[in-house]
Amino acid sequence: MARIIVVANQKGGVGKTTTTVNLAASLAVMEKKVLIVDCDPQANASSGLGIEVDRRENNLYSALFDIQTAADAICETEIKFLHILPSTHDLVGADLELINKEEREFFLTRLIEKFQDDYEYIFLDCPPSLGLVTVNALCAGTELLIPLQCEYYALEGIAQLLKTYELVKKRLNPGLDIMGVVLTMFDKRNRLSFQVEREVRTYFPDKTFRTKIPRNVRLSEAPSYGKPAITYDIRSMGTQAYIALAQEVLDAQSAGAKAD
Ligand code: ATP
Ligand code: MG
Repeated sequence: MARIIVVANQKGGVGKTTTTVNLAASLAVMEKKVLIVDCDPQANASSGLGIEVDRRENNLYSALFDIQTAADAICETEIKFLHILPSTHDLVGADLELINKEEREFFLTRLIEKFQDDYEYIFLDCPPSLGLVTVNALCAGTELLIPLQCEYYALEGIAQLLKTYELVKKRLNPGLDIMGVVLTMFDKRNRLSFQVEREVRTYFPDKTFRTKIPRNVRLSEAPSYGKPAITYDIRSMGTQAYIALAQEVLDAQSAGAKAD
């Protein structure tokens, strides 16, 4: 059964999509079977992986409300082991449409159940909000991955996310755990980055990834070519950081398996 990783932070622009796409791509290059579910109506993960709009006739929105379309919605990418269930702007309506449905928190859980034996990792790239789609992702997930940008008030910013996590875990999905916090857009010329790193490591001593993602222009360029950074520029610092993060994820998993 897949590890289902919810990539969330209600703050916009902190590196959720960049982390989803590049961690997923790195694992896929290591021959792990990976699915990204683009849960954001901005559809940045879909366009960043080069899925043109005309290939998104079936998409997360259609699949949520008509589960028969789900299998057709999944697209292949240029990386063999990486698939994506893309999104479109239609998904904007999902929060409102779900609100009056029964079991409204579990639409995504039911959808993902269909695929969880086909993949080793399923990443859910969340929108910058704590609305019903994000709650659906938290209900479907096995773990929460929090990208945190190294800036002022970074920790204060995730208080609400952690509160939502606790509530979901208590009431809706007891199996959900915190996978970890990944520091993004780290700038080693800026003292603030180090200060934020210290604070985050103090607050989450066992849950902060050792690997930090540097601010790196290649990571921001790659999506406009419809590519993950690993096929756009494998040597860039950004790509190398995400490969190291993937390795850290795999190492933690095998250490955990040994301990069990
Ligand atoms: P949203 O909340 O809108 O979904 P997000 O949290 O998914 O945003 P991204 O889209 O991943 O954030 O990143 C925001 C912007 O910062 C993008 O333009 C992206 O290319 C850029 N970016 C992300 N990480 C880095 C990095 N390490 N170095 C340089 N640019 C980055
Ligand atoms: Mg995003």
